[in-house]
Amino acid sequence: MSEDTIFGKIARGEADAKIVYEDDQCLAFRDMFPAAPMHILVIPRKPIPRLCDAEETDAALLGHMMLVANKVAEQEGLGDKFRLVINNGEGAGQSVFHLHMHIIGGRDLSWPPG
Ligand code: C5P
Repeated sequence: MSEDTIFGKIARGEADAKIVYEDDQCLAFRDMFPAAPMHILVIPRKPIPRLCDAEETDAALLGHMMLVANKVAEQEGLGDKFRLVINNGEGAGQSVFHLHMHIIGGRDLSWPPG
C-alpha cells in the first residue's frame, strides 16, 4: 500500500526531502530529479495511491492541494506561469503510488506534453 512508498515515508518524516511547505493535510517538496528549473511535488499526508482512488470524502483535501500549489508557486516566484500535472496509473507515467501533484515551472512550457 502507499504507506510504504518513499512519499509515505517522507510524509511521516521517516525519509529526507527538501520540504518547501507543510501543513496538517499535505506537504510540498522539491523533486529529486527535476524536469524543469522549478519542479515541486505536493502530496497529501493521507496515503491515496492514485487520483482514481480518491473518494467524495477527499474532495476538500484535493481542493486544498491545488490551493497549496498556488501558494507554493507564488512562494517560489513562478508568477502565473506554471503547470500542474498528476500522472494517474503506470500507463500514464505514475511511478510512485502515493498521490502527488507536480508543480512545474521556471521555463517556457510547450503543449501538448509528451
Ligand atoms: O508522476 P510520477 O509518479 O512519475 O512522479 C514521481 C516523481 O517523484 C518523479 O518526478 C521523481 O523524480 C520523483 N521522485 C522524487 N524522490 C524520490 C523518488 C521519486 O522526487 N525519492
